[in-house]
Amino acid sequence: GSKNLKAIAVRGTGNVEVADLNQFKKLLAEAYEAIKKDPASASRIKYGTASSVAPAHALGAMPVKNYSRGVFDGTEGLIAETMRKKIVFHDESCFGCALPCGKLSLIKEGPYAGTVLQGPQYESIGLLGTNCGISSIEAVARGNYLCNEFGMDTISTGNVIAYAIEAYQKGYLTKYDTDGMDLRFGDADNILSLIERIAKREGLGQKLSEGVKVFSEELGRGAEKFAMHSKGQEFASFEPRSVVGMGLLYATATTGANHSLGPTFREEMKSPLTGQGKAKILIGTQNSYCLQDSLIYCSFSRYGLSPISRLQFLSAVTGWEYSQEEVERQVHRIYTAERLFNLREGFGKKEDGLPWRSLAEPMPDGPSKGNVVPLEAMLPEYYSLRGWDPSGTPKKETMEKLGLTEFMGLLK
Ligand code: SF4
Repeated sequence: GSKNLKAIAVRGTGNVEVADLNQFKKLLAEAYEAIKKDPASASRIKYGTASSVAPAHALGAMPVKNYSRGVFDGTEGLIAETMRKKIVFHDESCFGCALPCGKLSLIKEGPYAGTVLQGPQYESIGLLGTNCGISSIEAVARGNYLCNEFGMDTISTGNVIAYAIEAYQKGYLTKYDTDGMDLRFGDADNILSLIERIAKREGLGQKLSEGVKVFSEELGRGAEKFAMHSKGQEFASFEPRSVVGMGLLYATATTGANHSLGPTFREEMKSPLTGQGKAKILIGTQNSYCLQDSLIYCSFSRYGLSPISRLQFLSAVTGWEYSQEEVERQVHRIYTAERLFNLREGFGKKEDGLPWRSLAEPMPDGPSKGNVVPLEAMLPEYYSLRGWDPSGTPKKETMEKLGLTEFMGLLK
């Protein structure tokens, strides 16, 4: 703003009181044991989030070439085992965590030799790898490193670059627009160059730096149909035609296509292609993630921590006693309050949408061949379960139940 304020740093000097220290220590010891015993922990510790690449690809759920395909031939070069063998040299954890999911990597040879970074993680492998047609883990790691250095999100960056490649191949962009670059999927040199151009807002990078929504609207002429975002937030590393609950998440999440607001990927693995029952599953995951964010838990606290033990921790630390029912009410209240905020800002049912490609272009290949996201069938059920009316507006009785009546004025 006008004061050129960049940040405010605050440092406390007092102690953090714990209401019941003995109980807290007991719960901590139990959680450590539970994490060790959880069958999924070993793979997460060894490979980090990259362990999800192979199972996601097996479902056709990796984003491939701007979410146009369900199969990527070069996945073998990007799976967790390849990454561990080729570049990972150290496991790293946040303070005191029993699940060291961070992977420190070093590129030992080739054009990117000497690059050191933490990662790449699953989402970065999806967006900078399969989505850009890149099958070299070193090139993905280099792209991830550049994004880190420039302070850019790998998801939005990989998404908008893949979009530019498709737009170029379809004739929406010419070499004049691309600064002479012949954009192709899998061309690591050009893709890495685009990351730098976006960061420095140079040439085509200036336009891409605005994100896929703004850029596609600027191109017009139907180019919006394959701009993969919701509410202006670029899609994350899940192809929604292959896991349709993720499509419902992208469409309804308060901040757009954000995978970290209640991913359904694991919960819907048994029936990923049907919309049936997905509204209920999604509300469960959204509420669970809302709770963990409110309590400041890591999103991997599901390894070993049950919903009950989360509340036991809350009680031991703060002395507050919450029943499961009350917690459910509180997270529902948070979600509804966020909805009210969005409605006030002009984001309603129309914005709870997905791009044309997800809704109307059948998946051409892979396990979900022929599928699209049945959003129109899922959305009414979702609204109804949330206590919202068919237009996506919270009902009066829902507002009363959640103690939000003071905000009714926002709905007029
Ligand atoms: S706290 Fe979470 S992100 Fe950090 S190392 Fe543990 S599991 Fe990984």
